[in-house]
Amino acid sequence: MPKRKLIKERIPTPERPAGERIRDFNEVNLGYTFELAVKEAERCLQCPANYAPCIKGCPVHIDIPGFISKLVEYRDDPDRAVKEALNVIWACNSLPATTGRVCPQEDQCEMNCVMGKVGDKVNIGKLERFVADYASERGIDDELLDEIIPEIKRKPQKVAIIGAGPAGLTAAGELAREGYGVVIYEALHEAGGVLMYGIPEFRLPKSIVEREINKLRKLGVKILTDHIVGRTVTIEELLQEYDAVFIGSGAGTPRLINAPGINLNGIYTANEFLTRVNLMKAYLFPEYDTPVYVGEKVIVIGAGNTAMDAARSARRFGADVTIAYRRGEEDVSAREEEVEHAKEEGIKFKFFLNPVEFIGEDGRVKAVKFEKMKPLEERDSRGKRKIVGTGEYVTLEADTVIIAIGKHPNRLVVSTPGLKVERGRIVVDDNMMTSIPGVFAGGDAIRGEATVILAMGDGRRAAKAIHEYLMRRREGKENS
Ligand code: FAD
Ligand code: SF4
Ligand code: SF4
Repeated sequence: MPKRKLIKERIPTPERPAGERIRDFNEVNLGYTFELAVKEAERCLQCPANYAPCIKGCPVHIDIPGFISKLVEYRDDPDRAVKEALNVIWACNSLPATTGRVCPQEDQCEMNCVMGKVGDKVNIGKLERFVADYASERGIDDELLDEIIPEIKRKPQKVAIIGAGPAGLTAAGELAREGYGVVIYEALHEAGGVLMYGIPEFRLPKSIVEREINKLRKLGVKILTDHIVGRTVTIEELLQEYDAVFIGSGAGTPRLINAPGINLNGIYTANEFLTRVNLMKAYLFPEYDTPVYVGEKVIVIGAGNTAMDAARSARRFGADVTIAYRRGEEDVSAREEEVEHAKEEGIKFKFFLNPVEFIGEDGRVKAVKFEKMKPLEERDSRGKRKIVGTGEYVTLEADTVIIAIGKHPNRLVVSTPGLKVERGRIVVDDNMMTSIPGVFAGGDAIRGEATVILAMGDGRRAAKAIHEYLMRRREGKENS
């Protein structure tokens, strides 16, 4: 590409103002137009692929300068520019409209972007999202799929996937592209996992998740919803019908707080609250059947993405919302953009507060008693500062409390006989295979609550390992 002037400031993406967006569940960030995307793409210094720190920071190693360069190179032909860019992204990532929106880019691809030394880092996530959105709006992704599908050489073996979250969907897509027959067993009535039931519409519109899932259907992936593995069918039964199984059942069981009053009415887990709001569409009640009670004063306990999503959802029901976290602001683990948006939307943050009692009246919560905590110099294994109680207490009023302190894998799949599990997580070897031959696993089921792109990376690695495993088995049979 010709030498260009260094543009230090990031081209911002338009966003809806906070006062307007807290009145509905429509998407907050509006994304780039082609013209803005090209301007941002021009800021990329095009570091060589073997050196580019952004590629190293992306868990699935997308050729980031490669896809960005296409936007600039073919700027006079937007459809061609996007098709070329999407082709580069798809080589590593089948859900770019999703990851472009929800990846914690500041800790991954954008963390070490060299532009950060002279100005703002390149807005990689928003460029990725732009490519995926534009491609869908113009049917470019379908065009690309139509070119890929005839190239697929169908194979006789079949693979069962448990769970239609990012891990399962990615493994399914990769295996379908490899020519295997793929069937996903999903417990809920809709595919998508957390993308569908956890992350709210204003951050990740469900039509986008559906669009990405429909691409997999086009590749031949069959999705059986309302199929709970462990109840409707067991892993042993799947192994009789399929040549391999991949477990991507996530970490859907919420952690609870062991404190007096936890069973009072008005206390939700974030899981229940967000599932009602997102999957059951309580924000559209009574148009949809499921209601959700949100009081006037809401306390959300926790400070990860789940807490931020619960708090921002409650705010959209008109509540006064406070996030209470037992550590300090430096240890908030939610994406930077979500924390900024939450603050803009009027959500209050209170740090170093650990809940010790839920106080009720007539069976309903009316306040939460917290012990004040203080930080120590020493850090724990995750690099967070250790905290201790001070023996001082504070009580905050609340008529709704949402607990968002983490989740762990569901026991139904994890308790399969012969499946090795440590600290509630499925154990896999270097090839993503579990202790049961032919059964592979990835995503939150092996990591505990992590991120979308890490789950997708696992799905990809497992698909490769399943392919190699099935090739070896086939060669073994042919030679015997
Ligand atoms: P999941 O997405 O949990 O999918 C597992 C699927 O398996 C589900 O559909 C479940 O119904 C199904 N299942 C479970 N048991 C069975 C069974 N027995 N039989 C059949 N199906 C079964 N990460 C980010 O990167 N960025 C974010 O902004 C972000 N925000 C988040 C917000 C919330 C509210 C939550 C809860 C998580 C968020 N995360 C975020 C984390 C991220 O969503 C997860 O790490 C990711 O979804 C894990 O993918 P997975 O495929 O392993 O599991
Ligand atoms: Fe960045 Fe996530 Fe895209 Fe990788 S997948 S380039 S980490 S936004
Ligand atoms: Fe471009 Fe930054 Fe990646 Fe270099 S590190 S190629 S400037 S996005």
